[in-house]
Amino acid sequence: MADNIFVTSPLLPPLEEFIPYMEQIWQNRILTNGGAFHQQLEDELANYLGVKHVCLFSNGTLALLTALQALRVTGEVITTPYSFVATSHTLLWNGLTPVFADIDPQTFNISPERIEELITPQTTAIMPVHCYGIPCEVEKIQQIADIYGLKVIYDAAHAFGVRQNGTSILNHGDLSVLSFHATKVFNTFEGGAIICHDARTKQRIDYLKNFGFAGETRVVAPGINAKMNEMEAAFGLLQLKYIDGALAARKAIYQRYCEGLQGVEGISWFDAADRFEWNHAYYPVLVEGEYPLARDALYEALKAEGIYSRRYFYPLISSFAMYRHLPTAAEEHLPAANVIAEKILCLPIYPDLTEADQQRVIDVIRQHALNRAKPASPVQHVA
Ligand SMILES: *Cc1c(COP(=O)(O)O)cnc(C)c1O
Repeated sequence: MADNIFVTSPLLPPLEEFIPYMEQIWQNRILTNGGAFHQQLEDELANYLGVKHVCLFSNGTLALLTALQALRVTGEVITTPYSFVATSHTLLWNGLTPVFADIDPQTFNISPERIEELITPQTTAIMPVHCYGIPCEVEKIQQIADIYGLKVIYDAAHAFGVRQNGTSILNHGDLSVLSFHATKVFNTFEGGAIICHDARTKQRIDYLKNFGFAGETRVVAPGINAKMNEMEAAFGLLQLKYIDGALAARKAIYQRYCEGLQGVEGISWFDAADRFEWNHAYYPVLVEGEYPLARDALYEALKAEGIYSRRYFYPLISSFAMYRHLPTAAEEHLPAANVIAEKILCLPIYPDLTEADQQRVIDVIRQHALNRAKPASPVQHVA
């Protein structure tokens, strides 16, 4: 039996290259609290991503929680139901009310047209997600935010390295939040960051992630502990040396899927064309009517072959118990998100995925398509 193939696998540089970083940590005896590696990673990431300021965090969820605190968001926040649960959970943890807007089925992202009709006097912010690293309609969203005086916080957990019109997608909105979880394009085991555009906001965020300390004895805010440690920061620095190669490998895998799945009826995928520089963080396909298997049946058929695809994002956030009572969680209110959630399947994509393993994935999908193309068994025609 061939090895299992998972939907993702962490980017891991050679272990021996990590040893010198560890030796330096042991020598300095500084394990956390904004040590030298922490500072260096903030600088190198800002430079690599093409953004002004990076505030490192221990994970993306705490970064989202803190971003909402930093902007003093209150009341209602318009967001997407088509995301990882952490997006909405951070609203509940801040005592905010999520208001779900439907998505654009072409991009999987929040539809700007649906945002405006949901604004009430209680609305203070919009929290869109660059789903799969596909950019939101950032200009339209900013226009709405400007007209109504709303803050925009992007959940950019999938959007490491994504660029559009010559600039990082992370330069849009008031704040953008990255995740460096092991499963993401760039990882620090666990980790995350807030991207902001001015030094004063960075200072405020840095206070908030360190209990609100603004000096040895001065506490200026009810902060939290969300600091990235030196081991994680060092790992990030090492990984930055490999990220371009990893992104190129993802792109090659993406192209092989597109070629391999060409002509399979009922299977379609997202094509970025020349509209932006994608990171190919995911390979989402839609499994539709003309394909002989329903999405869940294909998911099971792959699993039977040791291939673990994932139904990102199903179920919708709005269908979980802590959200479904909300007026905007109703299925009728979110038709596009509900349709996509039933058809979506994310196929394995990560830099170390071998051509042979990828071919196994393609073969299973093609095999089931062929089954339908075969003429019906003659037995069925016997009267
Ligand atoms: C991974 C992810 C998060 C959470 O990030 P962590 O670093 O795991 O806390 C938030 N939002 C989205 C869309 C994600 O994919």
